[in-house]
Order: sequence, then C-alpha cells, then structure tokens
Amino acid sequence: MINNYKEFKDFLNNLESKPKLLLHACCGPCSTHTIDLLNKYFDITIYYDNSNIDTLDEFNKRLEEVKKVVSNFENVKLVVGDYLPQTYYEAVKGDETLGEFSSRCYKCMALRMTNTYNYAEENGFDFYTTTLSISPYKNSDWINEIGYRLASSGSPQFLYSNFKKEEGYKKSIKMSIELALYRQHYCGCVFSKKELEEKQNG
Ligand code: SF4
Repeated sequence: MINNYKEFKDFLNNLESKPKLLLHACCGPCSTHTIDLLNKYFDITIYYDNSNIDTLDEFNKRLEEVKKVVSNFENVKLVVGDYLPQTYYEAVKGDETLGEFSSRCYKCMALRMTNTYNYAEENGFDFYTTTLSISPYKNSDWINEIGYRLASSGSPQFLYSNFKKEEGYKKSIKMSIELALYRQHYCGCVFSKKELEEKQNG
C-alpha cells in the first residue's frame, strides 16, 4: 500500500511496463492534469460515471468536456457509465442537508468509486483510481481509504490518489483555460447547487 505522495512518485518511476488503469473522471477540468501525469506510466481508460450530477443535461455537458480532454491525448480511451440518479439519492439518504465535506460527500465518492472498481474488476484492469482528489474541496484521505478498502481482495489494485500535489489543481486550471473547457461552479449534486446559490445570495 502506498502511504504518501513520495511513495506514489517512486512507485511510478519504478514501473517497468504500462499496466491497464481505469481512471474515474468526474469532469473535464479534473481530468486534464491527472491524465497528463499518468499517461506516461499507464494504458489509461477514462470511466465517466457520475450519477450524482443533478440533471441529465449537466451530465452530458460535463461529458462533452471529458471527450475534449481525452481527444488531446494519444491512446486514452473513454467508457461512460449509466446515468442513474436514483442510486445517488439512495446512497446519500439522510445526509442530504449536511453540506460539502460531510458524510454526504464520502458516500457520493464511495458510490462512484465502487462503480469504477466493479467495472475495472469485470473488465480485467490492473489498477483503478479517480481524478476526484485533484480538487482542494475533496478529502484525499477519504478517497484513499475507500479505494484501498474496495481493492482489499487483490485485483484490481487501487492506485494512490492525491493529484492536487505538485500544484496539480493549478495545472488543471491552466490546462482547462488552454482547452477552453467549461468549468462548473458547483460540485454536481442538486444540494451543492442549492448551497452555492444560498452563498451567492448571502
Ligand atoms: S457536493 Fe459533490 S461530492 Fe458532495 S455529495 Fe454533492 S456531488 Fe457529491
């Protein structure tokens, strides 16, 4: 198990082949730097699975931006998970009003990472991970805890995730501007949209 970013970088530099990685992506901007960092080391397939997003229109809008990012890298593939918002509402039931950084987000991330793990297992990937940790609004410790727990049976392995390190978030913003990507102002769920509107209205 990798415990910190230094161990993660050492691990990357010691890879002798390009293992198959299923990389869960929440949106285009978060995919930019993450793919840029990992593409040299892995045979990457992006998994866009985000039933947390409030509407199908917004789900498709973010998906289009992911496609733009993927088209900028050679050999990166894309798989799209089903949009099943009911699974999100069931996962966060009881925690809807707790706000960002709460157990609502833990459960939301666990749902998407579980779907990613399952797809990776069913399709013979060596590793899986998620772009979610690039955001300063996401708790990387939670992401790594969920990731290693799901993969405790052995295969696929979880790839340590803390892509905000080495100015990862700043780099993702720079790349998003260069690619003229849509950068959403709310995390994704209907609750985060409402929370943003409340903040904006004072
Ligand atoms: S704020 Fe973001 S991470 Fe938290 S529940 Fe909503 S969509 Fe999921």
